[in-house]
Amino acid sequence: MHTCAPDSGTVGDGRREPPISGTYPIRMCIGCRQRAQAVDLLRVVARNVGPAGFAVVRDPERRLPGRGAWLHLDRSCLSTAERRRAFGRALRVAGVPDTAALREFLHSLERQESGPAGADPVRHESRDRHEHS
Ligand SMILES: [Zn+2]
Repeated sequence: MHTCAPDSGTVGDGRREPPISGTYPIRMCIGCRQRAQAVDLLRVVARNVGPAGFAVVRDPERRLPGRGAWLHLDRSCLSTAERRRAFGRALRVAGVPDTAALREFLHSLERQESGPAGADPVRHESRDRHEHS
């Protein structure tokens, strides 16, 4: 049976959150422990590099198997995570995994961002400013 409610029964029961395109899952940075969109964080996983050693490797495509951890692209977050030994805990590996590669990556990233000195100054055109007094 159906109801004939012309314009009041459109919502119905079982209200769902509207699917907003452009939203990403929220993850927590293991360094500063702040939540951020997954797209703003770097996923890392532990890779076995020896008999009892693990290295933290980037997973930019988020497709590597295994337990991942999330981290800001920020060396201070990396340092904090290292100090807290958050990698071992988050990635479920024994000991302290090697983060040298990750550190190097963040370092090179920073160098790129600071770039060649001389951030192009955007000039504000002030010529056509009309002063009404
Ligand atoms: Zn962080």
